Amino acid sequence: MPSYVIVDKCDGCKALDKTACQYICPNDLMVLDKDKMKAYNQAPEMCWECYSCVKICPTQAVEVRGYADFVPLGATVTPMRSTDSIMWTVKFRNGTLKRFKFPIRTTPEGKAAPDGGYAAHDDLNSEYLSTEPESIGMDEMPKL
Ligand code: SF4
Ligand code: SF4
Repeated sequence: MPSYVIVDKCDGCKALDKTACQYICPNDLMVLDKDKMKAYNQAPEMCWECYSCVKICPTQAVEVRGYADFVPLGATVTPMRSTDSIMWTVKFRNGTLKRFKFPIRTTPEGKAAPDGGYAAHDDLNSEYLSTEPESIGMDEMPKL
């Protein structure tokens, strides 16, 4: 399902030559209405749902319409980007809320990693990412 812009949150990237969402979209779908200074997805049917525009938008003005099998039941997936990581907030259909940060900057004990984090595969194998195996029909998450 395609991305869409929440117009109240979009500031048109303050009239930069190219907006952040235009810059990042691999399919050149985002355009800016220069009269209104609001961006929009010009061809939603072509959207890859890659979430790049959602992640890069500095005002969190872009969202992706979720799939019909989970959105009517109240599930959401929301990324929040910082300078060195991204936090995903996932709300499951039963109301359970999970947050995943990537790359992880803490040890398994929850302490800050002295080297700034793990290697990529360590991140993916971390218990922090392996919290909902039943959601994919498994007893435990597969090791990479
Ligand atoms: Fe608007 Fe966000 Fe796109 Fe900037 S990146 S033009 S704020 S939707
Ligand atoms: Fe482009 Fe990806 Fe955003 Fe779709 S989700 S408009 S393909 S950046």
